[in-house]
Amino acid sequence: MSTIAWIGLGHMGAPMSANLVAAGHTVRGFDISPDCIAAAEARGIGTVGSIAEALDGADACFTSLPMPQHVRGVYESDDGIWAHASTDTLLLDTSTVDVETSRWCHDESAARGFHFVDSPISGGTAGAEAHTLTFMLGGDSADVERAAVYAQAMAGSVIACGGPTAGIAAKLVNNMMLFVSMMGVAEGSQLAEQLGLDPKVFYSVANVSSGQSWPQRTWYPVPGVVDSAAANRNFDATFSVDLARKDCGLAVKAGESTGMHLPAAELALSQLEQLSAEGLGGKDCSLVTKLVTPDGTLRGYTP
Ligand code: NAD
Repeated sequence: MSTIAWIGLGHMGAPMSANLVAAGHTVRGFDISPDCIAAAEARGIGTVGSIAEALDGADACFTSLPMPQHVRGVYESDDGIWAHASTDTLLLDTSTVDVETSRWCHDESAARGFHFVDSPISGGTAGAEAHTLTFMLGGDSADVERAAVYAQAMAGSVIACGGPTAGIAAKLVNNMMLFVSMMGVAEGSQLAEQLGLDPKVFYSVANVSSGQSWPQRTWYPVPGVVDSAAANRNFDATFSVDLARKDCGLAVKAGESTGMHLPAAELALSQLEQLSAEGLGGKDCSLVTKLVTPDGTLRGYTP
C-alpha cells in the first residue's frame, strides 16, 4: 500500500481520498479551509498542516482544486508541490481545468524531472462517495499505468485517453455534450407539457426512442417523473449552474483556441450565465428549463 498526498478536501476530494483510505492507503490530506480539514478528519482521513508535510515520503500526490488558477498556485508557489515533492512522487490533477493549464502542468513538471498525469473525473459527488467515478487519464503511458492503479480505488471506469492533456480534453468535450443535450431536454420537456402530453408517458417514449439521452434519463426536468432529477427537490443542485458554467466555458474556450464553431455550446453557456446573473448559480443546471416557458415559471420550481 502507498502513501498519498491529497491537496483539496472539498466536495470531491474528501470522499475520493476517503476511498483511498478504505482501500488501505495512507492519505495525508491538506486544505486551506479548517472546516474541510475537520470534515475530512471525521471521515478518517489523516490531515497535515502544509503541502510539504503532505508530500513527505509520498508515492503519489493528487490535487482536487476549484479553478485553474488554484492548480497553478498549488504547483508553482514556494510552499507548493514542485518545491517539496520528490521526483519519484507521481503527480495527478483531478480538477477540471482548461487544456492550457493542463499542458502547463505537464511541461513544467517534466522540465523539473516530475511525472504528471491529467486525471479529471466524471460522476459527481455521488460517484465520488460510491467509488464509481470515471477517470480520464492523459500522459506518458508508463505514468498513466501507475496512475490507473491509484485511480482504481475511486473509480467505476479508468480510461487511458492518450498522451498529455488527452484526459482533460475528453472531460471538457464530454461535459460540453451534456450541456448541449440538456438544452434539448429542457425544450422538449416543456413543449411536451404545452402540447398536453402526460410527462411520464412522454418520458417513456423518449426513453426508448431517438430523443433518449443521459440528461433525459437522469435529469428529466419535470417533477414526479424520474427520482434522480433536481425537479423533485425545487432544483437544488446535483450539478450546480456555477460548475456547469465553468465547465462549459472551458469547452467554449477550447473551441475558440482551435478555431472551431460551437454555436450550441455558446448558447448553452449564455443560458448558464443568465441563470448565474439572476443569482441562481447555486441551483441545479437543469434549471435552464425555466428559460423555455413564456413567463419563466416552471412546475417544480419555487423561487
Ligand atoms: P470544492 O470547492 O468543494 O473543493 C475544492 C477544495 O480546494 C476546497 O475545500 C478549497 O478549500 C480547497 N483549496 C482551494 N485552494 C487551495 C489551496 N491553495 N490549497 C489547498 N486547498 C485548497 O470543489 P469540488 O466540487 O470538490 O471540485 C473540485 C474539482 O473537481 C473542481 O475542479 C471541479 O470542477 C471538479 N469536479 C467537480 C465535480 C462535482 O460534482 N463537484 C465533478 C467533477 C469534477
